[in-house]
Amino acid sequence: MRPLRIVVDRDTCAACDICREIAPNTFEIDGDAKAHVKDPQGDPRDVIIKAADNCPMEAVAVFDGDSGEQLVPKV
Ligand code: SF4
Repeated sequence: MRPLRIVVDRDTCAACDICREIAPNTFEIDGDAKAHVKDPQGDPRDVIIKAADNCPMEAVAVFDGDSGEQLVPKV
């Protein structure tokens, strides 16, 4: 599986928990009530992309680890 680079904008995260509900092995909500990445390969690639895509704040950016292409949010 090609790696993904996942960046959570913690200032923008509203702690809605949607990313963790969709990809629970990748995201978790920490003690500051912000999402963070616990394992960038915790879930299948398409599940991680779906989780990022469903963030209502667009706080999760996902990049292809090889090419650097931004996959989410779409540019
Ligand atoms: S879906 Fe977005 S706003 Fe909600 S917890 Fe995850 S990063 Fe934060």
